[in-house]
Amino acid sequence: MAGYRIRTFGDPVLKRRAEEVTDIDGRVAQLAQEMLVTMHEANGLGLAAPQVGVGRRLFVYEIGESGPRVMVNPVIDEQDGEWEYEEGCLSVPGMYFPIRRAKRVHIKGYDLDGNEVSVEAEDLEAKLYQHELDHLDGRLLLDLLDDDQRKVAMKELRRRAETEQQQGPAGR
Ligand code: ZN
Repeated sequence: MAGYRIRTFGDPVLKRRAEEVTDIDGRVAQLAQEMLVTMHEANGLGLAAPQVGVGRRLFVYEIGESGPRVMVNPVIDEQDGEWEYEEGCLSVPGMYFPIRRAKRVHIKGYDLDGNEVSVEAEDLEAKLYQHELDHLDGRLLLDLLDDDQRKVAMKELRRRAETEQQQGPAGR
């Protein structure tokens, strides 16, 4: 099964709020499977639907021992504490930033059978949920940087875009 191309910074689909999934049907299951393939190929821990160009509220992830999982229409209904950690994103490849987020979250959503799932998580897993939920709301980690960090990041992204233009996409 071929995976998707991962959309990167500058693609408008990453800036839009994704819409609720109304029917958890075979097409959603198929999408989730292909997203997992894409995520594994890219060595990511999580991948949200907008990152493959689909404006729907679901993400896939794999963290710890519990194997690949899918969360449809997720909502974080409780969070507390604070935790700062280096964070990267498959849509902003190769760049890492210290991002401050809640240390603990309670997230609710649905699995592919339409059953409600409810998870309490902290640290890395809590960070992952907040990161993926941001994608569904059209937010990238670049939007969470302070002004100075953002300036450095944008400069680097511009430099990369120019290099890419000079070399052409076939030269990479
Ligand atoms: Zn991301």
